Amino acid sequence: MYSIIGSGIAGLACGYMLSHFGIENEIFESSEHKTANQYGIQLSPNASNVLQKMGILKKLEPHIKVINNIEIYSIEKLKKLTTLPVNEFINKNNLTNYYTASRDILHKELLSDVISSGTKINYDSKIKKVEDLGGKIKIINENKTIRNCEKLIIANGNSSSPIFDRISCSPIANDFMTYRSAVKVQELPLKISADTIYLFLGKGMHIVIYPFFEDLLNIVMITKNNIDVVMQKNKRNIEKGIYSFLRAQDWHSWSLYDSKITLNLDNSRPIFAIGDAAHSIKPHLAQGASMALEDAFTLGKSIGENNTTESVHYAMNARKKRIDKVIRNSTLNRKIFHAPSIISVFRDFFLEKTNGLSQLDNLKWLYDYEV
Ligand SMILES: Cc1cc2nc3c(=O)[nH]c(=O)nc-3n(C[C@H](O)[C@H](O)[C@H](O)COP(=O)(O)OP(=O)(O)OC[C@H]3O[C@@H](n4cnc5c(N)ncnc54)[C@H](O)[C@@H]3O)c2cc1C
Repeated sequence: MYSIIGSGIAGLACGYMLSHFGIENEIFESSEHKTANQYGIQLSPNASNVLQKMGILKKLEPHIKVINNIEIYSIEKLKKLTTLPVNEFINKNNLTNYYTASRDILHKELLSDVISSGTKINYDSKIKKVEDLGGKIKIINENKTIRNCEKLIIANGNSSSPIFDRISCSPIANDFMTYRSAVKVQELPLKISADTIYLFLGKGMHIVIYPFFEDLLNIVMITKNNIDVVMQKNKRNIEKGIYSFLRAQDWHSWSLYDSKITLNLDNSRPIFAIGDAAHSIKPHLAQGASMALEDAFTLGKSIGENNTTESVHYAMNARKKRIDKVIRNSTLNRKIFHAPSIISVFRDFFLEKTNGLSQLDNLKWLYDYEV
């Protein structure tokens, strides 16, 4: 019997995989709610490949959007810098599609499959601490109830205070803020295509806009410092309609928590960590959930194939090189997206001159990965 802490994408996908192999599992989830939120998520080909292998993609397809292009603009005068021809890249490399989806729908689909396969989800169960006593594993709830479990998967997301002493987390100071909003297509003062992700680069900020559900657009703005300071800096250069639109949004905002997570798990013990609980990835390459899905698939499959505890750890440790590369590339994207004024001139010039397909070719290692 496996106990899983956390019912985010990682925990649910892992529960699903274990049930698929007939392995009993239960989930402990701190929140009382059964759903995620109405915002969007990008599912790049490596993520949709996992969902396809899990048999979930077909069920999701009627509700998710296929992305054919990523267009990059300078927010100043809305000048297009380049188009990344996602569809051409996918056809050339015979990959599954790049999608955008509602987080809610992805979450509900995973949840319904997990529940129908017999997994019990214990809501309102915040796990405070995990203790490995050699023969047994103790999980201690917030209300001090103690449960013994045989085997454990930690999937409780990005937390500043890890619940297990073999997972350490050092916060990295940063002053980035995330602002999120969802609007109807017709409310955006820009003409956009339903199959395109738009990336706008500005001074100390970038904005990502994409369709994700019916006629809704997901808008994420990441800024260095506070929104008022950043909007003031960009005021003169942004087209008036867009400026007013951004100012009028009812943003859901939070500071972008950044950390370095180190796993020091004992290879002889059946305790594993996946998703944001195991690595902290900046959102600038849109890969956090994709890595959570890859982790969950690899772990579930390795356990399901009756491997020894050591070999399951081996399979998970083998992912480290890839995860580190994703972390490095996400960090690089953050530097590029938030380049200071002078450097941003070179960045924009470079983006205009390079071929979009060759930019995607540079990410082939990421998107054509086989789990
Ligand atoms: C602005 C932004 C945009 C992003 N966009 C994308 C994108 O487009 N594509 C992409 O691939 N990734 C994206 N990501 C990253 C992605 O959202 C995360 O990497 C992903 O949700 C991680 O999933 P998880 O299951 O590991 O963690 P979470 O989704 O955080 O789930 C953890 C679960 O554990 C529960 N929990 C927490 N603590 C406890 C506890 N102590 N006991 C019990 N339960 C607990 C939580 O309630 C939650 O349900 C983005 C991130 C940000 C910040």
